[in-house]
Amino acid sequence: MQYHYHKHDVIIVGAGGAGLTAALYAGKEVDTAVISKLYPTRSHTGAAQGGIGASLANLEKDTWQWHAYDTIKGSDFLGDQDAIEFMCKDAPSVVYELEHMGLPFDRTPEGKISQRRFGGHTNNETKQPVLRACNAADRTGHMILQTLYQQCIKHNVNFYDEYQMLDLIMVDGECRGVVAYEIDTGDLHVFHAKAVMLATGGWGRVWNITSNALTLTGDGAAVVLRHNLPLEDMEFFQFHPTGLFKLGILITEAVRGEGGVLINKDGERFMPKYAPTVKELASRDVVSRAIYLEVMDGKGIDGKDYVYLDITPDTVNKYFEIDDSRQPNGELRHIDSDYVRAKLEDITDFCKTYVGVDPTKEPIPVQPTAHYAMGGIPTDIDTRVRANESKKDVVTGLYAAGECACVSVHGGNRLGTNSLLDIVVFGRRGGKVMAQEVKEMDFQPIDADAAAAKVQAELDGILNSTGEETLAVLQQEMKTVMSKDVGVFRVEEGMAEAVAKIRELRQRFKNIHIDDKGKRFNTNLLEAWQLGCLLDLALVTAESALARKESRGAHARDDYKERDDENWMKHTMAYMDADGKVTLKYMPVAVTTHKPVKRVY
Ligand SMILES: Cc1cc2nc3c(=O)[nH]c(=O)nc-3n(C[C@H](O)[C@H](O)[C@H](O)COP(=O)(O)OP(=O)(O)OC[C@H]3O[C@@H](n4cnc5c(N)ncnc54)[C@H](O)[C@@H]3O)c2cc1C
Repeated sequence: MQYHYHKHDVIIVGAGGAGLTAALYAGKEVDTAVISKLYPTRSHTGAAQGGIGASLANLEKDTWQWHAYDTIKGSDFLGDQDAIEFMCKDAPSVVYELEHMGLPFDRTPEGKISQRRFGGHTNNETKQPVLRACNAADRTGHMILQTLYQQCIKHNVNFYDEYQMLDLIMVDGECRGVVAYEIDTGDLHVFHAKAVMLATGGWGRVWNITSNALTLTGDGAAVVLRHNLPLEDMEFFQFHPTGLFKLGILITEAVRGEGGVLINKDGERFMPKYAPTVKELASRDVVSRAIYLEVMDGKGIDGKDYVYLDITPDTVNKYFEIDDSRQPNGELRHIDSDYVRAKLEDITDFCKTYVGVDPTKEPIPVQPTAHYAMGGIPTDIDTRVRANESKKDVVTGLYAAGECACVSVHGGNRLGTNSLLDIVVFGRRGGKVMAQEVKEMDFQPIDADAAAAKVQAELDGILNSTGEETLAVLQQEMKTVMSKDVGVFRVEEGMAEAVAKIRELRQRFKNIHIDDKGKRFNTNLLEAWQLGCLLDLALVTAESALARKESRGAHARDDYKERDDENWMKHTMAYMDADGKVTLKYMPVAVTTHKPVKRVY
């Protein structure tokens, strides 16, 4: 059969913040190529709004140890503390490095990088929200992505844009390359490599209301699973409290960081009931549950399942006075419409465009939206993919970083600004480690014909199917059941139903029918393939969730309301065999300094 053959020392799949940082570092030393199904600057990192966390202490006292403790506490003590310490310690240096590459951060009057408040980030002494989120207005991710892409071009990284990875080439348990599909022509390409890094992003598209782009379908994680490798902590998926009602489009936490408050149908600011100290700036799992409980209590606006996020200056200034909220210089905080527009330019635009609301004048209708995968491909601090739960065995040649990976710095719940940080910290680490390792290696043999034939057979299975099932119906049924039963709150019965339903959908997927049989830009074919990935990830998510009999972080069970450290302070490792049978094993959490305590906000 026909296919193209390429050879590079390092192949990185994904051109978001994680992939590009790794490419930049590997690319400075060895022959590196990036494969991306999207044109690089369209990656989801570009949609990130609020900021990147680092204890620069530019405006008030802050330390990396506080940042680390907040992250551990935010993770509900499931995060690996060694990895968290590494990330928080490294944070100021990656932020300054991005600044030196030319990233246009917002500035303080003295010209330093300015910082804003964000959920769960606190001054550990006063327990009050701390200024730790470095930002470029409300398009921080866009700036990070553009900056990194320019640097990669400058350092001659090779790019294969609009190529979709469909399989890893695994020989004797080692990864030696990938097979990709050229979206423009439908041709297959075999990439032979010494090291492969997956940086393919998240899979919010499993759920109905999501902040995630259409392309976030978990391809990298699903392909790993299909090679009998485990996925870690899949039951922990974050619901961001403030998505635009019905649309899910993200309204950044920076709105609350700048003073925005959450209001129910009675005009009551309800967060003080749930988190008396930090209120709207509690961690995301806490705020999402509060909104859900208000709605269940009949306090949603117009009796519907949404509440208001209010950043109108009058409301915000009123609460600044009540809370006696002051700037680091001791002055009472105060905002006006110009300030809101300047700090939240894109958000102001989104609200006007999508729901016809001017946030400087009216409150924004919001509801929780599926946002971020805390779990994923297990790795060590060097981004090496773990082969099992032993904590010793890694897969030679395979690395992962960014949202698709689980290192695990976010544990049961991620703090805002810690993902942009994660992607650059571990992207950089992974890039350096791979460059070092491949210099001492030769290319190992692969059977390129067999690798390409396997993928072609998989695609032919979809193209030639004469079944009656349609993509749209299967997709909708998956999203509906996952949102209903594996969402913000969970119970045994619902999750068991979700497992059964997803199993049924995986069977029906075998009879899927697509209309486009052509070669050029066959997005119909690729979407069907992606649905297969989403279904696999939905299944391990539901099975992992069903097994975990406690509430921790984003995994909140009505039938097991408490966190159970004695039995459940451990990482889930989910394996799936060719018949879809899921086996769950467990791995200890790395605890260095902080013993678990009850979270109080
Ligand atoms: C709306 C929004 C706002 C956010 N705001 C913030 C914030 O303010 N602060 C923060 O810390 N975090 C934020 N996050 C989270 C954060 O932006 C993401 O977790 C992070 O950017 C993910 O980066 P990544 O490099 O792992 O993946 P992505 O940026 O998602 O990139 C994935 C890449 O993989 C490629 N890819 C995927 N599958 C394939 C395949 N099969 N073959 C080839 N290529 C493939 C894609 O082309 C893309 O280049 C936000 C997320 C969203 C959705």
